This record gives sequence, C-alpha cells and structure tokens, in this order.
Amino acid sequence: MNLAARDAGLSLLRQHALIAGEPIAANGAGVAVDNPADGALLGHVPDLGAAETKRAVAAAVDAFTDWSRGDPHERAAFLRAWAALIDENTEALGALCALENGKPFEEAKGEIAYANGFIKWFAGEAERLIGETQDSPLGHLILTYREAVGPCALITPWNFPAAMLTRKLGPAFAAGCTAVVKPASQTPFTAIALAELAYRAGLPAGALSIVTGEAAVIGKALCDSPDIRKLSFTGSTGVGRKLAEQCAPTLKRVSMELGGAAPLVVFADADLDLAVAETIKGKFRNSGQTCVCPNRVYVERPVAETFAEKLAAQVARLPVGDAFQPGVKVGPLIDDKALDKVERHVAAIQADGGRILTGGARHALGGRFFQPTVTLGGDDRLFREEETFGPMVPVFPFDTEAEALEKADASEFGLASYLFTRDLDRAMRFSRRIEAGMCGVNTGLISTPVAPFGGVKQSGYGREGSIHGIDEYVNVKTVTLALRSA
Ligand code: ADP
Repeated sequence: MNLAARDAGLSLLRQHALIAGEPIAANGAGVAVDNPADGALLGHVPDLGAAETKRAVAAAVDAFTDWSRGDPHERAAFLRAWAALIDENTEALGALCALENGKPFEEAKGEIAYANGFIKWFAGEAERLIGETQDSPLGHLILTYREAVGPCALITPWNFPAAMLTRKLGPAFAAGCTAVVKPASQTPFTAIALAELAYRAGLPAGALSIVTGEAAVIGKALCDSPDIRKLSFTGSTGVGRKLAEQCAPTLKRVSMELGGAAPLVVFADADLDLAVAETIKGKFRNSGQTCVCPNRVYVERPVAETFAEKLAAQVARLPVGDAFQPGVKVGPLIDDKALDKVERHVAAIQADGGRILTGGARHALGGRFFQPTVTLGGDDRLFREEETFGPMVPVFPFDTEAEALEKADASEFGLASYLFTRDLDRAMRFSRRIEAGMCGVNTGLISTPVAPFGGVKQSGYGREGSIHGIDEYVNVKTVTLALRSA
C-alpha cells in the first residue's frame, strides 16, 4: 500500500463548503463521504440548502461585472497560475480523488493531468475571444463581440471529480463567467481542494462557490434563479431532463452531457490484438464507470469467438484492489447500487443464453469490488438501453456492416462509439453514418482537452473542450455601425 500518497491526499481534504471563497463549516451532521474501497468514513461536508445557494449566486453576481469586463489576458494568467498549482499538487490531488472515488491512484493522477489540460487549453482560449467585422448590405459595418453569458451553475458527477469540473470551469473563467458548483455528494473533496487552489492562484472572491448538500434542493435553487444565466450539467439522462425542465421558465442556456451506451464494433479485417487492447483501455477506465465506456461490443461473426477469448484472457489478469495497492488497474464501484446493476446485467446475459468467459460475480475482496467480466452472446437489448457502468464487457456477434450499424444506432443514446477495421473506406463510411457525438476509429481512448466532447439524441447537447467548448459560455453581441461616407 502506498501510504505516503494516501496521507498526501488526506492533507488536502477540507470538511467545508466554499461560498464566495469563504469556508462554510459543517452544520449538524452534514453529508458523509466514504472511501468506496472499504466503506471507511473520509469526512463530512456541510448539508447546505436553498438559502446558502442563494448566497453563492449573489456572490457570483457581484463578482461577475469586474471579472467579465476585465482583461482576458489577466484571466488567462490566472488560469495558468491555477494550472501551475495543480501541477505542483498532482500527487496529493490524485490521491484525494482516488480516496473518494476509488479509482487506482495512478489513474487518478492521470485524471488530474487530464483535468489540468482543460485549464491550460482554456487559458489559451481566453486570449482568443476573437470577434468579427463584416460589411452589411445596408452599408453598415457589423462588429461582433463574444461576451460572457453570466453567472453559471455547474453540476458535476462523481466519476471524474476533477476533470468534469475543470472541463466546465476552464471555459467559464476564460470567457469571464463566474460559477456556483454543485459537486457530486460522493466526491466533493476534490472539487473543494481545486477551488482552494483557484483562490490561492488569485481568483477574485465570489467568482467561485462550491455548494454541498442535497442535490435536488441546491439544483432547484440554481435552476430557478434568474441570475444564473447558464447551467452546465454532466450526469444521468433522467436528472438532465429534469434540470432542463427546471431551467425552461428562466430560459437559461443549458448544456447537457448525459448518459451513453457506447457501441464498439470490430470487423473481421481489424487488428484483433489492437482491438482487444483498446477495448480494455476504453472499458476498464474508472472500473467501467464512464459515460464513454464501450457498453456493448459487436464483433463480426468469423472472429467473434477468437476476439472474445483473447479479451477474456487479458481481462482475467487485470489486478483488482484498493487504489493505493501498487499495480492495481480496477478499483471498487462507487456504491452498492452500482454493484447490483452489474450483477443484474450479467444475469440478463445468462438468461438470454449468453456465456460468461471470465468473471461474472462479486470479487473475493468483498465490499464494492466486482470481477472484471467478459461475456459472449445473449441479447444486446438491455445494453442498448442501459449503461452497465461497471467492469463488464458483453460481446455480441454480427454478420454484415449494415447490421452492425443498425445495432449500433438502435439506442436512444448517442455519445461515444468505436470502430475497429483496417479498411479505410469502411472506417470513413461507418464513422460518418453512425449517430453519435464521437467515434473512435481503431482506438478506445477519445477524451482529450483538444477534442470536442458531447452527444446527440438522449446523450444531450452542447460540446465541451476543444475550440468549441468556450462557445457554451459566450453570447455573441452584434454592433451595427452606420458610417457616414465622406
Ligand atoms: P449518477 O448516476 O452518475 O450519480 P446523477 O445524474 O444522479 O448521476 O448525478 C450527477 C450530478 O447531479 C451529481 O452532482 C448529483 O448530486 C446531481 N443531482 C442528482 N439529482 C439531482 C437533482 N434532482 N437536481 C440537481 N442535481 C442533481
């Protein structure tokens, strides 16, 4: 066990929320946060409600004018100073993230670097808030400005406690927005630690608050507020839909990064070893708990058995355990409900005549650990409808390209998709046709700060990261200038 790293993580753990940069200590019992690896209590955060949320919104409104009217180069300098502090504290932040989320420490450090990538990228974007000039047919000159939308509400999930936050805060701050954040109740400490570093880097008071407590109450207060001009949400489709409804009366701008049920398609002409390795990278990241994890793997029938066996042989060897155990690749699931779901999905495959090639049950470590699992055959219906969100890969054979595309698209979701083939024409054709926001060709890793991230259909709308990410946080203002001719 890497106990030194674990202790470094604990050194950043603060049992308070932050309103306008001021720590708000737990009132009463607070909300308990545990370590998914052993269920041990890590600490509490305050159970705040509508009144504190309104205070945070008022602070965001107060801070907005100066921050948004300030020099974008100064905001870029702040983002770079924040990024430097995060770089300095990568080990401790990674450990804190691993403690509350359960993901392997090495992977958690990778998440911190990935999260910081958004801050660095959007520091550059702050310097490129470029407007346009155009002659109008009316003889006027048209000028456009890209202006901050206003105070934002950001609601983030537990699976990437750092990256889902910086993917929103980076562009928000770059554009000149201020923010009220509601982190997931399971993983608030990473968000609080990042916010503390933001203030240390020079963020003006009020520009960022972290409000902890009952999600529905805080969420409603944020959605109802006419002062909050934008909501960005990452989480489940059900909650996203509810939040979009709650934002309708104030006509807030909304972006939604919701669930996926990603198909991964392997054609017989693919490099099978590569497809196996990339499927493992994509699927077992965060122990299978990402919205872009391959959820259903379709393999062309002549190679389906070979692919599934190769995959099962490697999956069986993935080391499972506590985040701080050296070499661990798969951690515990976030809670007992998550474990029940994987169990239900394995049972469904068996009931439909599928076979378990490896795993298939709770892990001998007990608690929230599940065995990395590969199945072959059975019905793919459930996997088109629901994300497993756990370490299970169901493999289903298919016969034709048309059938693979039909199956891939036969889902209400459309976030990530993956395709393995050596045929360039097919890769181009398939990736253009598939109804998904993102398609990885011969790779299982598609997330980087430079690539647009987002979905279609019930996976939501809006794009995060890339040159498009900042668009979610700016309004285009048009100034029409009538120029007198000499
Ligand atoms: P998950 O299943 O990944 O936990 P959720 O959609 O339940 O996904 O959670 C994502 C984020 O949304 C978390 O911060 C959670 O606390 C928050 N959340 C859950 N329910 C609500 C709600 N009714 N209103 C606002 N936020 C919510």
